[in-house]
Amino acid sequence: MKRNLILNALVGCLAAMTAGAADEPTVINPGNWRTPPSDAVILFDGSSLDKWKGNDDKPAPWNLVDDRAMEVAPGKGGITTRDEFGSFQLHIEWASPAEVKGEGQGRGNSGVYLHGRYEVQVLDSWNNKTYPDGQAGALYSIAPPLVNASRKPGEWQSYDIIFNAPESMEGGTQKPATVTVLHNGVLIQNHVAVNRATTASPLKGLPEKGPIHLQDHGNPVRYRNIWLRPLN
Ligand code: MG
Repeated sequence: MKRNLILNALVGCLAAMTAGAADEPTVINPGNWRTPPSDAVILFDGSSLDKWKGNDDKPAPWNLVDDRAMEVAPGKGGITTRDEFGSFQLHIEWASPAEVKGEGQGRGNSGVYLHGRYEVQVLDSWNNKTYPDGQAGALYSIAPPLVNASRKPGEWQSYDIIFNAPESMEGGTQKPATVTVLHNGVLIQNHVAVNRATTASPLKGLPEKGPIHLQDHGNPVRYRNIWLRPLN
């Protein structure tokens, strides 16, 4: 009995030592639905496209529109952040066109490419059937979303994405990237390991840093309130 008491006391001491070892988390202002947290990198707040570029390093060819938003300029190509990032938390809001045109992959198609390689599909998936790993919130060609949490065409929707970059390991192997996505606050990708670029990726290789790329798939999809918190 006495031995158990001593053992318990020792375990308690060790736990206290371990529990006290972590650094105190930084205090930030968490913001709200429309205002980013105080430690976020603002990628787009409606004022300019300065953080983005078009093909061949040209200025981003998309249009600034109402609602502090930007809109795909169909046929002019996707846009890519000038900066590159490792692991991050990304918030992005998007809306497919209110006027419904086309079907399947032709309706409100765009995409958020993490590191320019892994596409989180943007699509009008409200009453619009397509293949599961190509609908809104899919990791395109890799994993369908866990549920279809889509809002109606024209309504603003959000993706909150946690991306852990791939890591080179000893011996030349690579720890895959992982992707978690909340669509309109609902978990739809749960720490999915990704060891290849999705099809139609504009960039090759799987480096440890990369840009955010937004796809021009020929539909006037809008984006707003884009911010990112680097995690390394
Ligand atoms: Mg797409």
